[in-house]
Amino acid sequence: MIPPEFDYVAPASLDEALQALQQGGEDAKVLAGGHSLIPLMKLRLAFPTLLVDLRKLDDLRGIRANGEVTIGALTTHAEIEDDKGLGLLARAASTIADRQVRHRGTIGGSLAHGDSASDLPAVLLALEGSVVARGSGGERTIAAADLFVDLWTTSLKPDEIVTEVRVPSPEGWGFGYQKFNRRREDWAMVAVCALVRKSGDGAEDVRVGLTNMGPTPLRATAVEEALRGQPLSAESIASAAEQAAEGTSPTGDLNATAEYKQHLARVLCARALTEAAQL
Ligand SMILES: Cc1cc2nc3c(=O)[nH]c(=O)nc-3n(C[C@H](O)[C@H](O)[C@H](O)COP(=O)(O)OP(=O)(O)OC[C@H]3O[C@@H](n4cnc5c(N)ncnc54)[C@H](O)[C@@H]3O)c2cc1C
Repeated sequence: MIPPEFDYVAPASLDEALQALQQGGEDAKVLAGGHSLIPLMKLRLAFPTLLVDLRKLDDLRGIRANGEVTIGALTTHAEIEDDKGLGLLARAASTIADRQVRHRGTIGGSLAHGDSASDLPAVLLALEGSVVARGSGGERTIAAADLFVDLWTTSLKPDEIVTEVRVPSPEGWGFGYQKFNRRREDWAMVAVCALVRKSGDGAEDVRVGLTNMGPTPLRATAVEEALRGQPLSAESIASAAEQAAEGTSPTGDLNATAEYKQHLARVLCARALTEAAQL
C-alpha cells in the first residue's frame, strides 16, 4: 500500500535534527533504517506528517569499546553481527531477519520501536545496558529496565533521539541465545538469552532475558535466583529453567497458543543456559 502524504527532511547535524523534530510536533517521527516504520506507514498503522531522516548523521554510527561498549544508534544489525567481540549482542543480531534487513535496520531503531518480539530489547535488558537520548530537555541516560513501558511504547519522549547504546564489557560472561521461529528468518515466536558468570563449577551470576513473552521484554528473575550461587550441572539448569514462564503473559497467535509459548520459554531457557555455562 501507499503511505499517506508526509514531509521529509534529512538534516546534516544532530542539532538540526532535534530542531526539526521539535518543530514538527508530536506527529513528526525519526527515520533510521525504516524497516519497521515504513511498513507501518504503508499499512496505515502509522501516519507521521514529517519524517526526520538521520542517515547523514555519521557521528551516530560505530562501535567503541573502552571497558564499557558504546554503540552509535545508527549502527546496523549487520555491523553488530560482524563484531564478534560483542558476544551475546552479535549473536542475537545475527538472527534478525536476513542479511539485507540487517544492513538497513539499526540498533537505535530496534530499541526505540519497542516491539517485544524484536531480538535486541531483551538482550539489552539482560546485559543491563542503557540508551543515551537527546531532546529539548537535554541529554539523559535511560536504563534498559526503565525504557520498555508497554507494547510498542518506550519511555522516550516524542522529541528525543537515541544517540547511543551502552552495554558493560562482555568480558567474563558466557552467553547463549535460543530463538524459535517457523522459518529461519522470521521474528521470534519466543527467544531466550542467557548470561552466566562462572566461579569454579558454580554460577556466580546469571541473567536471563525473554523475547515475546509479554508486551515488553522480560527478565526471568525466578530462573536467575534459582541458579545464582548454585553448582552448574544439567540437573540444576533444568530445574531452574522450569521457572522461565513465571510472571509472563504471552498472547496466543496463529503460530502458537500462550501455553505453548510458555513451554517454549522453559525449553529454550534450559538450552540457552547450557550454552552460556559451556557444559
Ligand atoms: C522482513 C523483516 C523482518 C524482520 N525481522 C526481524 C527479526 O527477526 N527480529 C528483529 O528484532 N527485528 C526484525 N525486523 C525489524 C528490523 O530489525 C528493524 O530494522 C528494526 O526493528 C527497526 O530499526 P530501523 O532502524 O529500521 O528503525 P525505523 O523503522 O527507522 O524506526 C522504527 C521506530 O523507531 C524510531 N527511531 C528510529 N531510530 C531512532 C532513534 N535513533 N531515536 C529515536 N527514535 C528512533 C522511529 O521513529 C520509529 O518509530 C524485521 C524487519 C523486516 C522488514
